[in-house]
Formats: sequence, C-alpha cells, structure tokens
Amino acid sequence: MQLYNTLTRRKELLEPQTPGRIGLYACGITAYDDCHLGHARSSVFFEVLVRWLRRRGFDVTWVRNYTDIDDKILTRAKQEGAAWDEIAARYIASFQEDMAALGIPPAQIEPKATEHIPEMLEIIRRLEEKGFAYQSEPGGDVYFRVRRFPGYGKLSGQSLEDLEAGARIEVAEAKEDPLDFVLWKASKPDEPAWPSPWGPGRPGWHIECSAMSMKYLGETLDIHGGGLDLMFPHHENELAQSEAATGKPFARFWVHHGLLTINQEKMSKSLGNFFTIKEVLAKFPAEVVRLFLINNHYRSPLDFSDAALAEAETALVRLYTPLAKIEDLLRAHPAPGGPPPEDFTPAVLTSEETARLKTLAARFDEALEDDVNTALALGYLFDAVRLANRLLENPSAEPNYLALLAHLHQQFLELGHVLNLLQSDPADMLTTLRQKPAELPIPPEEIEALIAQRAEARKNKDWARADKIRKDLLEMGIMLEDTPQGTIWKVK
Ligand SMILES: [Zn+2]
Repeated sequence: MQLYNTLTRRKELLEPQTPGRIGLYACGITAYDDCHLGHARSSVFFEVLVRWLRRRGFDVTWVRNYTDIDDKILTRAKQEGAAWDEIAARYIASFQEDMAALGIPPAQIEPKATEHIPEMLEIIRRLEEKGFAYQSEPGGDVYFRVRRFPGYGKLSGQSLEDLEAGARIEVAEAKEDPLDFVLWKASKPDEPAWPSPWGPGRPGWHIECSAMSMKYLGETLDIHGGGLDLMFPHHENELAQSEAATGKPFARFWVHHGLLTINQEKMSKSLGNFFTIKEVLAKFPAEVVRLFLINNHYRSPLDFSDAALAEAETALVRLYTPLAKIEDLLRAHPAPGGPPPEDFTPAVLTSEETARLKTLAARFDEALEDDVNTALALGYLFDAVRLANRLLENPSAEPNYLALLAHLHQQFLELGHVLNLLQSDPADMLTTLRQKPAELPIPPEEIEALIAQRAEARKNKDWARADKIRKDLLEMGIMLEDTPQGTIWKVK
C-alpha cells in the first residue's frame, strides 16, 4: 500500500522490515485532564489504520503510550492538593473509559513513562558517551546537543537558522545553545524524583517515547505517528536523540494526522475551545462520532460542529436503513447459500450498475490502499447504499436476487468492519438514531444549559433549585446521572 511519509513528503510503498509484520507507535495522551475530541480523532484514525493493515494480512503490533509524569500533571496535582500519581491514574482511567464508550479497543501495548525510567537512562547514557548529551552543572538538567546531530530539522523541514530565530533561553536554563532540549530534569525539592547517574530527577517528555517505542518495536520502527502538532518539537527531538543513540534510522514512516478544529482554530485545552469526548458522547452515539471523524482525509484538518455531527448521524441512518430492510426481507425469504452466478444481472439494475456492485470491495480496498483514504472508501459504501435502495424498490423472492442481497449484506458488514462501522443490529441502531436528537423533548443545548445551572445551584448549596431542575428534566423524560467526571443525561 501507499502511505504518505512526512519525512520524505511523498507517498511511498509500505514495505515492512520483517515481511508480514508491522510495528506502529502512536503517541498517546498526557494524563492531566479529561480528553477532548481531538484525542479521539487520533485514536480513531490509528485504530482504523491497524484494522486496514490487518485486512491486508499484516501482523500488526500497535503501541500507544501514556505520559504519566509531566509538568502539566504536577501543576494539576498542586491545584487540587492531590498526589501527582493519583492525577495520572485518574486521567488514564478516564481515557480508557472514553475509548470503551467510543467503541475503540485498546492498543496491544500501552506502556507508561514511569515504568520505563531505566530504558530512558540507558539512552541518555549512550548519548553522553557519544558526546550528544551534557549536564549543565553537577546535579543539573541534562540536555541534547542539537548542533552535533547533522540531520536536525529534517522531519519538520526546518533549517537550524529557522529554528535559531525562534529559540529563546528561559532564565532558569543553563544550556550551551538555545536549540538544545532537555533529556533529564533535575528535580526540585517537592517534586517526584528517580535516581540517575546525573542526580535525582525525572525524564523530559521526548525521551520517554524513544525509550518505549524502541523497547517494544526495535531500534527502527515501521511507522511512528501522531497528530500534526507533535511533529515539532516532539517528533523532531525523538528522531534526533534516537538516531544519535543507535546510529540507525528511527522510523521508516512518519504518519501525521490533521487536527480537529472549531471555526478553523485548533481544538485545544490551552485555547479553551474544546469539547471533551464525554460531552460529545452525551449528545451523539459513538458510531456517529466515529463516522464523523473518518469521513474526511486523515491528513486534512477537520472542523467540528453540532451540524457536522448531525450530518454524520443522517449518513449513518442512510447506511443502516437498507441493511435493516435486507435483513427483514431475508428473514421472510432466506437466500440460497453462496454468491449469485457471475453473469446474473438483476432486472432493476443497468449492467453498469451491476458492474459497480460487483467491484464494490475492490474499489473500497483501492481507496484505503492509497494513503488510507477513508472518506473515499465511505463514499463507495454510500454508492452501494444507492444500489441497494434500487434493488429494494422491486423486492422479489427469486433465488438469484436473494443471493445478491445476502452477498451485498455480507459485504456491508465486512467492509464496515474495516472502518469500525455497521457492526450493530440495524433495527436497534435505527431506533437509537431516530430518537436523537430530533425526538428529544428539548434541544440538547438546553439540557446542557440546565445541567450547568444545576451544578451552579449545587455549588451555592441551593439544593431546592438543583432538585427542581432535576425533577423538571425527569418530567420531560431526561434522566440525570452524577458521575465522578460530571453529570451526564440519558433519555428515560
Ligand atoms: Zn511521543
């Protein structure tokens, strides 16, 4: 298959180092808060890539890490007066809940940074031995000497001059060069620390991914991936320190997906313009969210809005409707086993339409074969929906017609599986989809607003008001449930 490689800036043939096997490392979350929908885009994309590679017969090992020690975690712990490892454990659990609710199975290996400190120290030791790492002062931070690594900037396509212009030394840092980045941070008295040859400290962010990816997938990865926002500095630094330590290429393919945006602006915690996965799943079924996330090219930005989600919902109704009808028909008139004869052309279809039906799987595979074009692959499923609807206009009990429907039904399931779609019972799914959001007694935004008012009332100990909001909603058939992550609502 052809896959776009950020490193070479072109599509290349994906040839694994060991025939039949692919190692994929995708950077995971920093566990300091609930995840927003941008994180879901990453997991949904990489999971579909894994499904596709498996359909192609590859034995895939998918590794996705947790950053469970980081400045953001320490800051959050301080704000809450909680232990840092409690914060990390809480938000790893929250992410795992989100993935389960979204219908995304775990990666094969989900390593945590704090469980791989010896591997990180070993890389830093090798870097120091080769002159790539230095300590600023006894007991101080350890840095990577960027100018000593000739390829620095090759991943993000920047020259040292470009980078120099943007670099600044923070007051507290004692680097030789503004471009150098930290490998090991000396700990301050109240911070968690691990022993090391350079004194007690904790890892820098980049070194953990080098250590965990190489531990599980070897010194040269087949594919390293993440969001486009990780390309620099995170991936550039990972690449530099790994190649400097091993002398081997770090990753054959660098795969970066585009970011989720709101009004064309990146969805992020720091900009404050985000929706958590939990908030979105309170309003839309998981499959609608997954369809929304893959119904465009993975390298393009994707703009989030309720309207776009509602559109995905309509699209899912269109996909499941013929499936439900075919199942009804086949229950009444069971199809003979096996596909219809090669030369069979149903009366309602032209020969050109019959040809489209026959080449459905081939076109679908071709779309994914060309840089994982999920939007195009989905487009072919919608083409199949059009053809299925034509077939269903004139139902018949003729054996060849029934065999064709059964074959088409099986293809919807098989191809849907590659995209992690269409695996639910069609009749049940259509009932769920049609309930939301059109048949809700009040719009979801108003429910959310009332939940916010209730939270405010509870904060002010105005229990009577909080209780009234809950009861009013219940009368309209909306049940509230308070969870550790906040209040969610359900239709009674
Ligand atoms: Zn990483």
